[in-house]
Amino acid sequence: MPRTSAFSPSQLRELRTEMEQDFARLLRSMGNEQAATESWVNDAWSAESPSEPDELDAVLQERAHARFAAISAALRRIDTGAYGECVRCGSRISFDRLAVMPEATLCIACGGN
Ligand SMILES: [Zn+2]
Repeated sequence: MPRTSAFSPSQLRELRTEMEQDFARLLRSMGNEQAATESWVNDAWSAESPSEPDELDAVLQERAHARFAAISAALRRIDTGAYGECVRCGSRISFDRLAVMPEATLCIACGGN
């Protein structure tokens, strides 16, 4: 039986909407980065001295993938009623904290930043 959430339905709806927007944004940005990489490959093909792809891009993409995974996990946790609980100590993560970082899985005491 799913546990009852400490958050009100409207708070949950707000957090879920925020995550779904982030989710869509990340999907788009990952798609764009892929397209950008492909165009870089095409450019490099004809260029005499192709430059290395920016290392920053790889870091950003990795971060986008990590956030994407975190958000999809958080959305699943809303469905199971486990959302908003610290995965380490089990205490409630405050709504204020989740409003800033809705995919958070640790409370502030457990070392969130
Ligand atoms: Zn905790």
